[in-house]
Amino acid sequence: MWAKEGLHRVRVHIINPSDLSFGIGVITPRWLYVLAAATPGEFGDPILTDETLERFDPDTIQKGDIVGIGIHTANAYRGFELGRILRERGAWVVYGGIHATLYPQEAHERGGAHAVVRGDGDVVWGQVIRDCVAGQLQSDYDGGRVSGGEFRSARWDLMPPKSYMWASVQTVRGCPKHCSFCSVWRTDGQAPRQRTSDAVIHEVVQLRRVGYRFIALADDNFYPVSLGDIALARKQNKTARLEELISMREERFELMRRLAELPSDMVFFTQITMEAAEDTEFLDAMKRAHIRGALVGIESVTPEGLKEVYKQFNSTGADLAPRLQTFRKHGVHVLGSFIFGLATDKPETFDATVALAKQADLTFAQFVMMTPFPGTVDFERWEKNLGDKAERIDNVPVNRYWLLPGHRRPKLYFPHPKMSGEEIRQRTQAVWDEFYCTSEVWRRSKCATSLKARLAFVFISKLYRQMYANTGIATDSARRQTSTRWARWLARPCRRLFEAKALPDLKVPGRPATTPAFEIVGQ
Ligand code: SF4
Repeated sequence: MWAKEGLHRVRVHIINPSDLSFGIGVITPRWLYVLAAATPGEFGDPILTDETLERFDPDTIQKGDIVGIGIHTANAYRGFELGRILRERGAWVVYGGIHATLYPQEAHERGGAHAVVRGDGDVVWGQVIRDCVAGQLQSDYDGGRVSGGEFRSARWDLMPPKSYMWASVQTVRGCPKHCSFCSVWRTDGQAPRQRTSDAVIHEVVQLRRVGYRFIALADDNFYPVSLGDIALARKQNKTARLEELISMREERFELMRRLAELPSDMVFFTQITMEAAEDTEFLDAMKRAHIRGALVGIESVTPEGLKEVYKQFNSTGADLAPRLQTFRKHGVHVLGSFIFGLATDKPETFDATVALAKQADLTFAQFVMMTPFPGTVDFERWEKNLGDKAERIDNVPVNRYWLLPGHRRPKLYFPHPKMSGEEIRQRTQAVWDEFYCTSEVWRRSKCATSLKARLAFVFISKLYRQMYANTGIATDSARRQTSTRWARWLARPCRRLFEAKALPDLKVPGRPATTPAFEIVGQ
């Protein structure tokens, strides 16, 4: 396909912007390969760039090229910078992603956008390219929320070799919860959209054939129907709703039965809510399906903290550690996620959190500082409270902090009733330091079965801490740069630990006979 105003063949670039490049990525940015699949074949293979690996070289752009840039709030600054540069070089610049969906006008004003796509790109991206080539590009496209059956399978054949530790496959989009700090339920919706087990299993098999045995199930919430949801629908005599929930649950079990048929060296990781600990039938199915780990949002160890983030469905107090240990007892390792800086936090909350993280047998943990992300209830409340009195940094109001370079952004956004922002930052850093000190990491590495696996565990724990704690929390750029260098150095040998022998002849498992999950109807 030849561009009308140029003499060269139209080339499509898709870019994942990032300020930090580590040479190796932990998890593949799935959306890049999904949009590649959504690029119409007549335009050839798109050129994909993930800046978490290496910086994009603007000299590779020719006049008339089409560039898709996907942004979330954290990388919007770099994304806008790239868009402006590439537009100046004559490219057609199109933005998509959560941030562009929430602030389309900003992408036009700050990022040099010719067009912005809101919502899912799976279907509409092809239309955008065709319109652009036909000279009919619109400034705004609404991709909406496509159904599970319309999710694109990713073009894994375009993934650069030896670049990522984990591949990523999505099985469901959307989450029925409504946590105040999370925008997923508003952007992806509260009605879970599940892919068929056929679509998921074909992608997984394709990845295992080329040597990926570690796969992140990049879902908003892998456990979209809890036993509590089913019990409530039954109690309220909502027959249609009950049938729908049971059918969704059965689809989860069907998928897990098929994953269980895959080679035993496969390892999946996902993201679920704590309620899954009540559902040991589900946890056992996860274990059989090789789902060895899950990120669980614990957020706060106090009931007041959970109330503040609308997450009262989590456990606290004496129930919390046993609840989390249930995952481990049923073969699912937990990456626990905690938030610091809630108004209810006290200095002693930090010690209590790290003590709980150790007591609950968490395999990994992350400790993030409360950040108001656009699209969330917290952000709306914060912005409303600020009114027209928002502090300005470099003439940018603090409620548009993503328009500042990373090192100029505040570390804490909400004034805290008991602690200064610096105190919260230091205490958070100390919690990371304590949880990931060498003796603790070595103690936790006992979950590995061989010395080699234990050493791998230590390496990965250290890498995780360098990538996510020191680059995110450190205030001084020297510490950030040192951490980035360390992460680059650690990432290469770590990646090799995840490599597996290719299995080019691996067959797609068929559909096993349907069994159990309907037993729940009679409970
Ligand atoms: S934090 Fe997790 S459980 Fe809460 S709304 Fe977001 S995806 Fe759902």
